[in-house]
Amino acid sequence: MVYQHRYLDGSPLTLPVGKVVCIGRNYLDHIRELNNVLPETPILFMKPATALVSLDEPIRLPAGRGECHHEVELAVLVGRELRNADAETARAAVAGYGIALDLTLRDLQNQLKKNGHPWETAKAFDGACPLSPFLKPDALPDPQATDVALQVNGEWRQQGNTRLMMMGVFALMAYISTHFTLQPGDVVLTGTPAGVGPLQSGAALLLRLADHDFNARLA
Ligand code: ZN
Repeated sequence: MVYQHRYLDGSPLTLPVGKVVCIGRNYLDHIRELNNVLPETPILFMKPATALVSLDEPIRLPAGRGECHHEVELAVLVGRELRNADAETARAAVAGYGIALDLTLRDLQNQLKKNGHPWETAKAFDGACPLSPFLKPDALPDPQATDVALQVNGEWRQQGNTRLMMMGVFALMAYISTHFTLQPGDVVLTGTPAGVGPLQSGAALLLRLADHDFNARLA
């Protein structure tokens, strides 16, 4: 099915489907678990619109490309154009909050990193960003103090809170907008807490954003 942004309450959302801009390392505990160096400036990368799929659909992993890891992340839907914006302006431009998986072909990414190559094929493949419906901005009382968690087959794998981000949600959006214009319908992924790991076909997932739970499953 063709992906379209939608609100959780079923009310219409007419924004187009744009790019997804992501930050590579934004939670200290996740940086430590991958033995990565603390970045001096945020590491940004993108997924194209073709990476977006609804969480309602079975998640399909690319075959024969090694381990595919889950990274559960707060997703922010951009409602207004942002270019060289400040954090305040970025906050006012938010059209909704959701929860996403930044699916990552980890073996491939490690190989690319080792060779000093870009990560696109490990991060930007078709279906690499399963995404929930969006809460309206006022439905998330404090985006900077929100639980973000993932269960795989009934077991908690990732349990984070957005207060543990090194660069906050709106500062991140502002920073991104100094490199890439954010357009209405774009999505920002805000980084993953610790606990990333490989996914297997048939797995049942539960993604938690504040007190909202979303079920998903792997094909
Ligand atoms: Zn990520």
